[in-house]
Amino acid sequence: MLEERIKQELKDIVGPENFTEARIDMVSYAYDAMGAKGRPDCAVWVTSTDQVSAIMQLATREKIPVTPRAAGTGIAGMAVPTHGGIVMDVMRMNRILEINVEDRVCVVEPGVVYVDLQKALAPHGFTLPTEPGSSVASAIGGNVATNAGGLKGAKYGTTKDYVLGLVVVLPDGRVMKTGTRTMKTSSGYNLTQLFVGSEGTLGIITEITLKVVPLARRTATALGLFDSLEDAGRAVTRTMSSGVVPSVMEVMGRYLIQAINEGTDLQLPEVNTMLLVETEGYTRAEADAQMERVVEIFKDNGASDVKRAETEAERADLWAARKSTYPVTARLNNSILVEDVTVPMSKLAELFREFEKVVAQYDLKVAMCAHAGDGNFHPLITFDSRDPEMVERVEKANDALFRMAIAMGGTITGEHGIGTMKAKYMTMEHGEIAMDVMRTIKRALDPHNIMNPGKMDLNG
Ligand SMILES: Cc1cc2nc3c(=O)[nH]c(=O)nc-3n(C[C@H](O)[C@H](O)[C@H](O)COP(=O)(O)OP(=O)(O)OC[C@H]3O[C@@H](n4cnc5c(N)ncnc54)[C@H](O)[C@@H]3O)c2cc1C
Repeated sequence: MLEERIKQELKDIVGPENFTEARIDMVSYAYDAMGAKGRPDCAVWVTSTDQVSAIMQLATREKIPVTPRAAGTGIAGMAVPTHGGIVMDVMRMNRILEINVEDRVCVVEPGVVYVDLQKALAPHGFTLPTEPGSSVASAIGGNVATNAGGLKGAKYGTTKDYVLGLVVVLPDGRVMKTGTRTMKTSSGYNLTQLFVGSEGTLGIITEITLKVVPLARRTATALGLFDSLEDAGRAVTRTMSSGVVPSVMEVMGRYLIQAINEGTDLQLPEVNTMLLVETEGYTRAEADAQMERVVEIFKDNGASDVKRAETEAERADLWAARKSTYPVTARLNNSILVEDVTVPMSKLAELFREFEKVVAQYDLKVAMCAHAGDGNFHPLITFDSRDPEMVERVEKANDALFRMAIAMGGTITGEHGIGTMKAKYMTMEHGEIAMDVMRTIKRALDPHNIMNPGKMDLNG
């Protein structure tokens, strides 16, 4: 419980209209999009770097936990205030401060929603190509703090590849500028990247300078149909080592296809596995030439058919199918666990094959999905959270998946982050020495452990 004098000080900083301790708000802030929970004592909507700085000085003086929060779409417990205290909601810091295509940069506040930035960039013929599946809701601040990836990772990489500089408020309230607005720099430690993916544990990001890239002018889209997930995995590996770099390679497995057909009127062919692929080019011929090579590779690697999207409407249907993944799967049971392990490209088929054995062993229903072009596997495990025996089977399958990914030289999270849900696996992936270095950095910047405590196994 926060003392009244502290609540009053917070109101004085942000204005009474930007402070809340209403129960309905505290319950909303107790969750992210996945189910971890922990109620705050109050929340503030900040509107400037100065306000953030004043709040952090107060929090340091009084040793109050602060949890930064953007859109709350995280799915690993990262924005959940597990230690109570203050939720700092950045969604009212939502100005696009600059778009400068000559420098190929834009500068934004952290609460700008991804699609809103895309809409602003489009008339300039530019884009931020990281597009997470949550693009209509998630904000750039959250994307940076989780190093979000997405549907076009195969060609364009993830958020880290576009962040040039930041303004960060440190836990003691000091305001730090990192990086540059240039396309390259070799100057000093890369403090910008330290904050990318830091999940709000080191400071609060209040301004972001991003590199932007030209919009693709022409796109070719196709759907490969496969009799097995493993064949599709092999086709992805072969494609990605062929010299062609598709922008999209999305795998959808049988259970997911059935769920899409039951939950929408899209009427997809009921095959074992689908692979949605896109190539891009400056001209139509360039996009088509790459797609022809992809089709050949798919056919050589077990595709029973490859259908090209001939019209924009056909393309829109394929994307509608892919983008319905979460809603249609969420209806299948009362709970869902979405994982995002990532393995080296050559291991994808093996990962698919071995995980299918795990799913059979634990008798689970899993919608198989993957941003496969960068080795990122997204199984969506549906289960009944009221059934302890089923929950135990889910946990065992999940544990097996993490161990498998690490053994293959991969990572437990390609884009969603660690939060609370994967914290106990961090040492297994990184080893004791790297964890010791991470904890040393955390202690140096946040000696009182007030900055989003309880995340990422940093206090062990
Ligand atoms: C349907 C659905 C689809 C998704 N698809 C993808 C996907 O394709 N790729 C992907 O990567 N993720 C995906 N996600 C997960 C989620 O959308 C991403 O992790 C996203 O980046 C979170 O952004 P947010 O604005 O919701 O941040 P939040 O969930 O509010 O916060 C996430 C983390 O960032 C920290 N944070 C937020 N703002 C700041 C700030 N200003 N300074 C410091 N720390 C801050 C928070 O403390 C927290 O640790 C999906 C989620 C859903 C529900």
